[in-house]
Amino acid sequence: MDRIELQKLRELPIEGVAERLGLTVKHHKCLCPFHNDHHASLSFKVSKNTYRCFVCGASGGPIDLVMRYLNKDFRDACHWLADEHNVIISDKKDTKGSDPSVSFDASRYERFFERPWLSDEARRFLYDERMLDPRVVSWCRLTSWRDRQQVPWLQIPYYDRDFKLIGIQNRNLIKGALPRFRFPQGSECTIYNLPVLNLLKPGEKLFITEGCSDCWAMLSAGHKAIAIPSATLLKRKDAELIRALTSALQITIGMYPDCDEPGERLFLQLKEVLPNLVHYQLPPGNKDFSDYYVSIKRKEADHG
Ligand SMILES: [Zn+2]
Repeated sequence: MDRIELQKLRELPIEGVAERLGLTVKHHKCLCPFHNDHHASLSFKVSKNTYRCFVCGASGGPIDLVMRYLNKDFRDACHWLADEHNVIISDKKDTKGSDPSVSFDASRYERFFERPWLSDEARRFLYDERMLDPRVVSWCRLTSWRDRQQVPWLQIPYYDRDFKLIGIQNRNLIKGALPRFRFPQGSECTIYNLPVLNLLKPGEKLFITEGCSDCWAMLSAGHKAIAIPSATLLKRKDAELIRALTSALQITIGMYPDCDEPGERLFLQLKEVLPNLVHYQLPPGNKDFSDYYVSIKRKEADHG
């Protein structure tokens, strides 16, 4: 990790990080998880991006909060934060001896997606856990592989509108293992599922989701969807790209923001660039669209 990457993690909004950890933040305060608290003693200072408990004295920034709350060391806490917020950080051992200016060599990877292969772990993840439609998995050309340490990975290709491979995201299929994501050098994982734009008919609806998982759930539910990689770090460039690509299409664009502060903020950020963006509300108790989709599929399965 270099200094700029660490800086990005330190700038992740502290209240959003707390919510991703499962804490309930209200009026810049929450119950302190580090002592037996009944009075919301922990408060957040948004201007400094820090937290402090007035009873037990716990304090720090986003990385400290994760280290302490999840009982992780510095490196693992950084990876957790990066994964949760889709910040791409380089692992020293992955990039050893490589030149950061080298661009993504699609020809090295294209063939993996011509004959996708799903390991047992990948099938479990995609079909048992996420209950996705096999047609979606095949449209997205998801495939899998094992690294030299026999760690199973799901391989997620990013294409431009013409199905040209522009990046790859690898997702660790071992639950809780870190790092959760890895990106080959030079991968441009910006907007996911751009080829779907070619299938849109006038008057149709396009959804924008946060991350690929929600996008697969949307597609499996019969919607058309693209994904942006991160709620906390929406790049102006990505938002502009969506506007440029969709402005000529006569479609409505909608979103079910994740039920947390970063989710709502992402909606507002996108709305600045896409003024007609429609806000859809997830039913209570669902943290994101994947959750909601899986709950519907389970109910359907129970009833027949
Ligand atoms: Zn405390």
